[in-house]
Amino acid sequence: MLNPDQLSIKGNRENSKIIIAGPCSAETEIQTLETARELSRIGIKIFRAGIWKPRTRPGNYEGAKTAGLPWLKRVKEETGMFVCTEVATPMHIYEALKYGIDALWLGARTTANPFAVQELADAIKGVDIPIFIKNPINPDLELWIGAVERIRSAGITQLAVIHRGFSTYRKYKYRNDPHWQLPLELKRRYPELTILSDPSHISGRRSLISEVSQQAMDLDFDGLMVETHINPDEALSDARQQVTPDRLREILESLIIRKPGKSIENHLTLEKLRSEIDQMDSELLELLGKRMSVSDKMGIYKKENNLTIFQPQRYSKIMNERSKEGLTKGLSSEFTEKIFKSIHEESIRHQKNIMTEKTRDLPLTGGKK
Ligand code: PEP
Ligand code: MN
Repeated sequence: MLNPDQLSIKGNRENSKIIIAGPCSAETEIQTLETARELSRIGIKIFRAGIWKPRTRPGNYEGAKTAGLPWLKRVKEETGMFVCTEVATPMHIYEALKYGIDALWLGARTTANPFAVQELADAIKGVDIPIFIKNPINPDLELWIGAVERIRSAGITQLAVIHRGFSTYRKYKYRNDPHWQLPLELKRRYPELTILSDPSHISGRRSLISEVSQQAMDLDFDGLMVETHINPDEALSDARQQVTPDRLREILESLIIRKPGKSIENHLTLEKLRSEIDQMDSELLELLGKRMSVSDKMGIYKKENNLTIFQPQRYSKIMNERSKEGLTKGLSSEFTEKIFKSIHEESIRHQKNIMTEKTRDLPLTGGKK
């Protein structure tokens, strides 16, 4: 059984973080063992390796399957590391337990499916093994929480979640959009839950792993799961995002681990900034409310004069001007356009209500009914 001390690797700083590392897939016995030996040498205590690989399209490498489990057993015997793998079906659970795997994780595609999660929860009942639950592929916090609840009700007491980002259609810097607000909201609602970050699947590129790991540390995540391969370029899955054990050591050594609440001064500075933000947010809401009442007046005017609610030229003029103005204030046009799009949608909703109301005071025209 894992205990929290064993889970942590203590860096040269006071804080200890949970670090899980290992290849995306266990491909061969040699690749698995060589990677594990190097990781153990740099102080990693928990080894990960996918045995059954959920591939988006058929025909890609689907993992060593049960044949790879003895390799993990050897890693455990030789290095003393804890070993963990992904399970997606009850059969995976039985096989993994049979080979003495220490911890299991649910992948993003599994978390997205409550039927699958429930089946796994039923299969694990009675075995209190640590389980890590990755976020679902879609940015749905309730679905993620639902999976945690299902696994917890099976009697699992050592639960952690892994934030691995969310699928996105748009071309983006990262492979998976982090939507940091989701794991942070999860943390706010369940402060006791251990939250790890998976910078490999978030970034999708080895050059960005350091940056994403630092962001996770700055947001006070409890640790990282990093895909590490003895020869990343030759990896049979997720080659672009894997790093060598040496590179992992460099990344971990360069991480700045801040101490939440440690320095009162820092804490107070943060509190002061937070209250400034709170104040500004309420000013923003006040202003949005005022803006909406002007828009209501416009709705009344449009109704009186039989004009359409939506006026495309005006809309594109607003979008252009606002996004240009936003740029001068350091706001990306994408952000400004998103904000104004939703303000506009809310105005339209208000004006539609006004159009369909039968009777109403019309302040612009002196209270005509
Ligand atoms: C993995 O960890 O290799 C994996 C398949 O992850 P995810 O479920 O996050 O896609
Ligand atoms: Mn992977």
